[in-house]
Amino acid sequence: MKVPILILGGGLAGLTAAIHLSKMGHEITVVEKSEYPKHKVCGEYISNEVVDYFNWLGLQHVLAQSHPIHNFRLEIDESNVSEVKLPLGGFGISRYSLDDLLYQKAKEQGCQFIHEAVVSVKFIDDLFHIILTSGLEIETPIAIGSFGKRSTIDVHLQRDFIQKKAHWLAVKAHYEGLFSDNLVGLYPFQGGYCGVSKVEQNRLNICYIVQTDVFKKYKNISDFTENVLFENKGLKKIMSESKSVFEMPLTISQISFDDKKAVENHVLMIGDAAGLIHPLCGNGMAMAIHSAKIVSELVHKSLNNQTFSRGTLEQDYQKIWNTTFKNRLNTGKMLSKLLLNPSLTKVSLKTVAKIPLLFKYIIKKTHGNPITISIS
Ligand SMILES: Cc1cc2nc3c(=O)[nH]c(=O)nc-3n(C[C@H](O)[C@H](O)[C@H](O)COP(=O)(O)OP(=O)(O)OC[C@H]3O[C@@H](n4cnc5c(N)ncnc54)[C@H](O)[C@@H]3O)c2cc1C
Repeated sequence: MKVPILILGGGLAGLTAAIHLSKMGHEITVVEKSEYPKHKVCGEYISNEVVDYFNWLGLQHVLAQSHPIHNFRLEIDESNVSEVKLPLGGFGISRYSLDDLLYQKAKEQGCQFIHEAVVSVKFIDDLFHIILTSGLEIETPIAIGSFGKRSTIDVHLQRDFIQKKAHWLAVKAHYEGLFSDNLVGLYPFQGGYCGVSKVEQNRLNICYIVQTDVFKKYKNISDFTENVLFENKGLKKIMSESKSVFEMPLTISQISFDDKKAVENHVLMIGDAAGLIHPLCGNGMAMAIHSAKIVSELVHKSLNNQTFSRGTLEQDYQKIWNTTFKNRLNTGKMLSKLLLNPSLTKVSLKTVAKIPLLFKYIIKKTHGNPITISIS
């Protein structure tokens, strides 16, 4: 089987690229190992920087179903709480709904989906040879890698970050309970932090990330919740007064924030496959969507040129990716380092909580400007 453009992974980044490129008239095939809809471990707060782009993509109905969020609260303990208006604001929507709505849109626009896992990616004589679990081989001149933060494809490509130990795990569930409507809250605790915000149907999403070594000291999630999460009294109050609507919380492990390359083995990486920002910043989804837009524009431009130059496409993408996202990622890394240092954490977070302007400045450093539309 031969296709003009193949997208490896149909999460947020892959689906956005599929919608964008099919809108520009390209024939798109997406390989996604899971079925839709599906819950995912995520804070489910998206920065408004994506709004104009979503409107351009014809995703107004997604925005209409979401929950507007204007304020950000950092609650370290009862006497150290700070709330600021988010410079751009954002919205809450579950990944269960969001990914499914994007999938429906991509299908409506004629994108083809193959529900299998990619097991091998080879680049020979200017052509990708992609093998799926069934043994099906797909040939394509353009492969976009949108397979998320950690995949068997990373192992197959022997990417640098996959050889190193990953230190974080994350847990998420939806709840029925009371929480301010237009707020996203961040509740630090020993070894990690928890985000709380509303998604559709007035549900609360409670999602935390913690260093694996800290978590491993406890027997299970309940034991960890009682002994560590509940040390943050604000979080304890929210969780104790809420009822989970999930049978079991969702968990993921081996989360790595190490550097990745935006182009590897000629695959153009987007979303978390190109680099994962610390969730503390609440910007991973906007970055995934934005990187999909950048790659789509460049691929469209390259294919419309009379002579296609892979070298130019790869160089341009790597360069734009770095200028657009590198600073944000570095700020996220710096903030996460502060969190890894228990003595510094309390002092630094208390300082930030007490100075709203500094707080806003940090939020701005971890976010981008609204994504501009400059389609030709
Ligand atoms: C704990 C936590 C909280 C977060 N909170 C927020 C937040 O509040 N706000 C925010 O903006 N960001 C947040 N993020 C980041 C955000 O979740 C990601 O940046 C975003 O999901 C990236 O989208 P993606 O499309 O790159 O990856 P994904 O959405 O993970 O999609 C990757 C897709 O590839 C598929 N795939 C993988 N391997 C294969 C294979 N071999 N073959 C076929 N398919 C494959 C997977 O099934 C998946 O559907 C958080 C992240 C974490 C870990």
